[in-house]
This record gives sequence, C-alpha cells and structure tokens, in this order.
Amino acid sequence: MKILLVEDEPKVAAFLHQGLSEQQHQVDLAADGLLGLRLAQQGGYDLLILDTLLPGLSGLDVCRQVRAQNTGVPILMLTALGETDDKIRGLDAGADDYLVKPFAFQELLARIRALTRRRHDAPPAGGALQLADLTLDPSSKMVHRAGQPIQLTAREFALLEYLLRNQNRVVSRVDILEQVWDTSFDTGSNVIDVYINFLRKKLDKDFTPKLIHTLVGMGYVMKEE
Ligand code: CA
Repeated sequence: MKILLVEDEPKVAAFLHQGLSEQQHQVDLAADGLLGLRLAQQGGYDLLILDTLLPGLSGLDVCRQVRAQNTGVPILMLTALGETDDKIRGLDAGADDYLVKPFAFQELLARIRALTRRRHDAPPAGGALQLADLTLDPSSKMVHRAGQPIQLTAREFALLEYLLRNQNRVVSRVDILEQVWDTSFDTGSNVIDVYINFLRKKLDKDFTPKLIHTLVGMGYVMKEE
C-alpha cells in the first residue's frame, strides 16, 4: 500500500516510517501540515496517517480539506494521550479512526488492516440495498437519498451498509463494534453515537421520513417510521 504519513516528531516519524516500510508499504513522509496537504491532494494514497498537532496546518485541517474534496481515502488520526476532544474533533473532521499516542506498533497495523480491508474485499453478492428512497450500492460505493448523491467517509459507509443489511432489526452497540469496528476498539468511547449523528446529518436531517431510530438502552434500528 502507498501510505502518506504526516508527523512532525522526528523520532515517531522515523520509527513509523521504518516499521511500515518493513511491512512492504511505500511510505511518503511529511513533517508539516502544508506539505502533507499538498501531497494528499496529489492523491494516489491508500491511507493517510495524520498527527493532530503539526506545524503549518493542523492534522484536523488537513483532514477537513482532504474530505472537502470528497476523496474517500481512509484517514487515521494520531492524537495526544487522553485528549478525548481531539478524538471527537478528528472524527468530526472526517477521519475514519484514531489512535492515542503512545501506541504499540502492532496496534497501528491492526487499525490499518481494519481500515483498508473493506476496500480490497470483493463486493458482497447481491445488488443495491434500499430503504424507502435511500439506496446504497456496495459495488460502486454510491449512496443516494431521494435521487441525490450523499458523500460518506469509508467508516460511515461501512456503518450504513451494516445497518441497512439489518434493516427493521434492532442492532446493539456491541453488534456494531464487532461488525463495523475492530473488537479491539475502545468500547468506553461514544464513537458510535458520534457516527450515528454523522449519518443522521447526512441522510435524515433534510429528508422525510426519518430512517435512523435510537432505542434507548437497546441500540439502533433503520426502518421507515
Ligand atoms: Ca505533533
């Protein structure tokens, strides 16, 4: 895979660069946000790894600007220890996952596998999934509501696909964590609620009927009200 690593701490950057290269990945390194953004905009990457605090332009701003161009490249944010606000801001900016420093290299590899696996999977059998006027096509990765195209990040797409495959069934947060996120994911976080809100904003806010429903204490269900 071709990976763009944007990290300004020389020791961390060198360690990650070496480790990822040993895993047969091709790694481009940028030590500041402006160079990182320029490289990211040139495209051709299978994954972006962005540190949050960077000189020039923050990792969050790089992430936002990449997403503003509607590229679906998986983005993994590296955040400072225990900075929950950073995690949420990162997800808000369109990142697919985050990793808290310091982390074990194996943990990074596991996240990379989880983020990139879906892209290389063969499309599941069967055609588009549909609920009311919402459609999701697993092979073209296109989502439409009322005929309008909806741009989703890789993680939002995976969550929506899972919910649609289980439409009219209640799915718990544990179900979602196991099926859409790796089970190693920090289950103490409210990341699922954050992502459900992202989907609501994009899919339900400007449309009727509402399709994503919360069942307090049980989970979520997608259905026509
Ligand atoms: Ca930094």
